[in-house]
Amino acid sequence: MAVAGVTAYDVLVIGAGFAGLSAAARCATRGARVLVLEARSRLGGRATAFPDRETGELVDNGQHVLLGCYTETLAFLRDIGAIDHVSAQPQLSVTMIDRHGRRSRLTCPTSLPSPLHLLAGVFEWDALSWRDRWSVLGMVTPIKLARRERLPGAQRKAASSGETVESWLIRNGQTARIREMLWDPLALAALNQPPDRAAAPAFARVLGEMFGSDPRAAAIVLPTKPLHLMYAEPARRYVERHGGTVRMSAAAKLRVDSDSRITVTANGEHWSAKRVISAVPWFALPDLFDAVPAPLTDLVHRARTMESCPIVTVNLWFNRRIIDEPFIGLPGRVMQWVFDKRLVFGLLRAEGASASLAEARPDRPRAAAGDEASHVSLVSSGAERIVSRPNDELIQLAHQELYEAMPEIRSATVVRTTVVREPRATFSLAPGQPARPATETGVPGFFLAGDWIDTGLPATIESAVRSGHRAADLCIG
Ligand SMILES: Cc1cc2nc3c(=O)[nH]c(=O)nc-3n(C[C@H](O)[C@H](O)[C@H](O)COP(=O)(O)OP(=O)(O)OC[C@H]3O[C@@H](n4cnc5c(N)ncnc54)[C@H](O)[C@@H]3O)c2cc1C
Repeated sequence: MAVAGVTAYDVLVIGAGFAGLSAAARCATRGARVLVLEARSRLGGRATAFPDRETGELVDNGQHVLLGCYTETLAFLRDIGAIDHVSAQPQLSVTMIDRHGRRSRLTCPTSLPSPLHLLAGVFEWDALSWRDRWSVLGMVTPIKLARRERLPGAQRKAASSGETVESWLIRNGQTARIREMLWDPLALAALNQPPDRAAAPAFARVLGEMFGSDPRAAAIVLPTKPLHLMYAEPARRYVERHGGTVRMSAAAKLRVDSDSRITVTANGEHWSAKRVISAVPWFALPDLFDAVPAPLTDLVHRARTMESCPIVTVNLWFNRRIIDEPFIGLPGRVMQWVFDKRLVFGLLRAEGASASLAEARPDRPRAAAGDEASHVSLVSSGAERIVSRPNDELIQLAHQELYEAMPEIRSATVVRTTVVREPRATFSLAPGQPARPATETGVPGFFLAGDWIDTGLPATIESAVRSGHRAADLCIG
């Protein structure tokens, strides 16, 4: 077998999602020459965008929401020069329309320290009765415990791995109404699994980070560009400026010899590499190997048995604007959030940047219904029950829920619809799932990155970036 590029690259990274690209960028920053191999013909993995067949608009594979506590993701965006591609709220502030069509707004004031700002927000929130508002006090101790859990020597756990999010919330005195209006939407968005299925520790960890010392940690941060333009293309350029290479349509295979020498193959080329970072998801790991090396048998078995959870997004284009803010929560419904994509991208302007909406979307030459049109994305997380329904049914469901929440929009005309299914959007957090792997493997020089690595966080962008940075740090030393 001819082995090329033996000395050309210091590190090989397999997979160009958030994990692989953040690992590659960090290695490049530290002076390593990096080769990134990506199987698909576009970058970004599970956080990407594609051109809509009819309108030419770049459509995300699903709305992605970041939080102020995504510290490593924001540092990564800063490093690659893409921090302007997100827009952050000053504090957590969300409009909700409940199952009866009642609109309300939860706003946590930044003037108060965390988690007092959450308590103040909830006490001001007129969607809840006084009994529901008081119940939030039951979460103060669990959130404090979750904050402390990350410190060395922490003894008490905020939640036990055998209990679900729902039972944990009930055990801490949360009423049905505050669960439906506040905790369940947060848990579904963060964990992508219904609260009666997902284990509580990962949610406790999210709350510990959201309601940590900085009140801005809970603020919502939205991409202001289609996803692959937001981070993946800037990361590619960054790696290339630092002497690295990013190859697409390059599905990698890995061979580990008995002396632990690693050979990577893609498109008939071979590289013998001292340091390799696999940043592929759990479901793709087994296919990396024709013959699974003995030290990795258990890891591959665990990856194979990890279950996945779907997300469904229904995109509707209306002939006019139907909502007047970038996003609205629809708690208690199958479609839990609605985002106005043009307002989301328009945040770029609202934040005072000079780019216009058209500049932010240079790729929408044939928008479905002219400049007055709106493109809304309805998101269903934890979508096991609906993911295999036909498109027509999903579109009808999205319409129906939108009309029930906002009867005033019935006069708007739908001009185009699409459905995006991501059956393996995230891994399952249900109790009893296989343990998540560490960054280091039994093979010297072979490291793992990806949202599914044991970061303590659920399958999120922040988990992916933390794992990528960790792998790069161990790899480069
Ligand atoms: C619809 C949807 C909505 C989401 N919403 C949110 C959200 O709001 N907030 C949030 O934080 N997270 C969200 N997530 C989760 C988030 O997208 C993921 O956690 C994150 O993108 C995972 O990144 P990753 O790099 O670990 O994996 P991936 O993005 O899956 O990247 C892995 C890459 O490896 C490549 N690959 C696989 N096998 C090979 C091979 N043999 N050779 C070369 N390349 C290979 C794949 O093609 C892929 O590009 C959402 C996910 C989806 C699908």
